[in-house]
Parts: sequence; structure tokens; C-alpha cells
Amino acid sequence: MTNAYILWNYRRIVRLGQAKDKLRSGHWAFYESVIQALLVEPLAEPPARPRPTYRPTYKVLPPARLTRPIEVHKRVRRTVTNCYFCKYLEGLKKKAQEAQITFNMPNLQSSCYTKYSCSHCSIALCINCFDKFHYYII
Ligand SMILES: [Zn+2]
Ligand SMILES: [Zn+2]
Repeated sequence: MTNAYILWNYRRIVRLGQAKDKLRSGHWAFYESVIQALLVEPLAEPPARPRPTYRPTYKVLPPARLTRPIEVHKRVRRTVTNCYFCKYLEGLKKKAQEAQITFNMPNLQSSCYTKYSCSHCSIALCINCFDKFHYYII
């Protein structure tokens, strides 16, 4: 209520000020608009919803990769993204380093980016990893 009174009183002064002094009215109008803006309840922001986008963790290999015959796994084009298997191996290597275990990194020369994925596993795989991924025994 106090604020409302101050505002009311302020507006009265503003009106008087405008009547009295035309030069200052511009400033008064400015201050009044600022005060009004401050008094306006801020719009409640909608709660942040977690994005439904799929973010791979690269921690597990899908069991579908071991489905045979191997012919069901077809290389299909997709938008460029990280190779899942490269990322997976990177993760393993990191974990091994942290635990101070020697990890024999399979020899891969890929840059980790690929525009292919497996039609059966629905996973992005670079050309170098494609076969390794489907035969890799943990
Ligand atoms: Zn790869
Ligand atoms: Zn596959």
C-alpha cells in the first residue's frame, strides 16, 4: 500500500510539475514511465523444460550391433555427427587412464566425424569403425 501511495503522490506531483514547468515535463514523463515499468509485475517465466533431444552418452554399445547375419547392418547416409564408436572408445580410454590401466586403443585413423550410420543399430559410425563396432567383443 505504501508503494501505491507513493506512486499516487508521485503522479500528482508529475501532473503539477507538467503544469508548472514544461521544460521538465519530458524528464518527469520519463521517470514516471520508469516507475510504471518497475511496478508492472514481471511475467512469470515458463519453467525450463528439459529438451527432448536425444543426447548419446557413448557409454554402452547397443546389443543390436551383434545381430546376425551381418548383412542386416547397412551403412546409410545421415547428417554429420560424431562417430558413436570413436566416442565410446575415447570414453573407455579415459576411464582406463583414470584408473591407471593400460588400454589398448584399437588403431583408428578416423577424425571421429561421420555422415554415415548403421541402418540396423541406428547409430552414427565412421567408415573405420563400422566393422569394428559390429565385431567388437568387450
Ligand atoms: Zn569411428
Ligand atoms: Zn549395426
